[in-house]
Amino acid sequence: MIPAPTAPESDALFARARAVTPGGVNSPVRAFNAVGGTPRFIRSASGAWLTDVDGNEYVDLICSWGPMLLGHAHPEVHAAVSAALARGTSYGAPTEAEVLLAEEIVDRTPVERVRFVSSGTEATMSAIRLARGFTGRDVIVKFAGCYHGHVDSLLAAAGSGLATFATPGTPGVPESSTALTLVLPYNDRAAVEAAFAEHGPRIACLVTEAAPGNMGVVPPEPGFNRFLAETCASHGALFVSDEVMTGFRASRLGQWGLDGAVEGWRPDLMTFGKVMGGGFPAAAFGGRADVMSRLSPEGPVYQAGTLSGNPIATTAGLATLRLATDDVYAHITAAGDTIKAAASDALTAAGVPHVVQSAGTMFSVFFTDPADGPVRDFADASRTDTAAYAAFFHALLERQVYLPPSAYEAWFLSSAHDDRAVQTVLDALPAAAAAAA
Ligand code: PLP
Repeated sequence: MIPAPTAPESDALFARARAVTPGGVNSPVRAFNAVGGTPRFIRSASGAWLTDVDGNEYVDLICSWGPMLLGHAHPEVHAAVSAALARGTSYGAPTEAEVLLAEEIVDRTPVERVRFVSSGTEATMSAIRLARGFTGRDVIVKFAGCYHGHVDSLLAAAGSGLATFATPGTPGVPESSTALTLVLPYNDRAAVEAAFAEHGPRIACLVTEAAPGNMGVVPPEPGFNRFLAETCASHGALFVSDEVMTGFRASRLGQWGLDGAVEGWRPDLMTFGKVMGGGFPAAAFGGRADVMSRLSPEGPVYQAGTLSGNPIATTAGLATLRLATDDVYAHITAAGDTIKAAASDALTAAGVPHVVQSAGTMFSVFFTDPADGPVRDFADASRTDTAAYAAFFHALLERQVYLPPSAYEAWFLSSAHDDRAVQTVLDALPAAAAAAA
């Protein structure tokens, strides 16, 4: 039996971190506030494994919240990055790597033209500005439980009735920033129809996660994304599909590869991030050529970025996408299927009610009663038993498995999750399920 990891060095660093950084972390979800305890400070990572500053090793089921599709420290990605580093790190002038990455994205997705930014937040913020600039309209529609980065107008809580405007989702966002945002329940066609019936001529765009992963994985019901695309089209609004998480991750062609490509429709605008940066800060928005041509300097809608299309980030992203072949997705699917089945078996054996949901290679386990049906929206997801999840999380952490420290996240795997990594998870699951009971 491997001894349970202790973390005195992480504890010490966390104490120092909290003195100089709010909550001791640079993005809230890295903290263990939802599950309790000290986040592990990571010293290094290789393949499917993280090593913390105390020398403990963990199978990584976070994968940097999605980007590390090929695992950590992939030798070919690192070789490409090292070669790029030797040529300098940022020029503030265009490079061939940007053209190559843009061509790769245009080849693999329905977007015709693309603009790089440095984070998913910037991508959705810019897509919304462009949608408003293109349509000359002001209202935007989003779904409760979908996260699109920390854009003021998208950090919005649902209003008091269905087609009523939102209130700020956090202090610091003024009422005026969410006064033009409608927040609707996910997978709810009637709510979308009602919103467009009432506000259609003012709606610039509807933005949705292509398959939500930020309330746990809640797949769109069959035909839902097509319905959204058609509804937007019939009202002259743009359909913005946020594939920051699902892009090049849910499948080789993202979530669109699982619905739009099969059903024969395309979003007007899409956003990407995570995998396309190969572990570096790169993101993008793109779409219809006529819409993208409204962007500065070709058109009047302003958007810019000092490090946008950074040569190191674009090199890492290009190397990652070129290595992300069908075999990579088949491997991740198989490893995920094994873990999902084992998690479900262990939880069933321990008598823990749960629901496992997937969108392509992405999945998560909800600690909700299957008798209530699948998790279709944020209200369903909110029923998850967070105390059971916290117990499950810590029992896995003690057994060298690092799950997302929140019940509302997708679990991510990589092509580096080999038999040893998967077996480590399988061995840990029965005790974790018992802890959650
Ligand atoms: N959109 C989606 C669907 C996301 O999952 C995220 C981040 O998790 C974002 C946008 C924001 O991306 P970033 O954290 O790079 O700003």
